[in-house]
Amino acid sequence: MKKIIYIDMDNVLVDFKSGIAKLDSDTLEAYEGKLDEVPDIFSLMEPFPHAIESIHKLAECYDLYILSTAPWLNPSAWIHKLEWVQKYFGKEKDSLFYKRLIISHNKNLNTGHYLIDDRPNNGAKDFKGEWIHFGSTEFPNWHSVTEYLLLETK
Ligand SMILES: [Mg+2]
Repeated sequence: MKKIIYIDMDNVLVDFKSGIAKLDSDTLEAYEGKLDEVPDIFSLMEPFPHAIESIHKLAECYDLYILSTAPWLNPSAWIHKLEWVQKYFGKEKDSLFYKRLIISHNKNLNTGHYLIDDRPNNGAKDFKGEWIHFGSTEFPNWHSVTEYLLLETK
C-alpha cells in the first residue's frame, strides 16, 4: 500500500506572489495585510516553480491529497481553490487529484505519513506524520522535497 502525502497549496503548490503581482495598486492598498481576502485572487495564481512535475513524479510512489486552508472571510477562495486544482490537474475521474482536495483549518486531524507545508499554521506543526517544512533550509524547494521523498520509498 502506498504511503499518504498531503500537500499544502499556498506557496507550495501555488505561487501566491504570482497572483499578487497581477493586482493593481488600488487593490494592493485596500487589502494591505490581508491579501488573501482579495476577491478572485486565487484564480490569478500560477503553479509554484517545479511543483507540477514534482507532483507527477511523487504520484508514481505515493497516494497524494491536497490539504489546504481557505480564508474564512473570502468565500470565493474556496471556489477558486477547487477550480485551480481542476485547471492544472484536470477534473475527470482519472485525474490526479479527483475528489482529493481537502480544505481544513485543522490539518493535524488528517491521518497520513507526510505533510508538505510552508507554515506551521492551521495544525501543520501538530500533524502526526512527518511535517516536511517547505521553504526551510532542509527543504528549500521542490527538488529537495522530491529527492527526499523518493529516497524514502527505497
Ligand atoms: Mg502555505
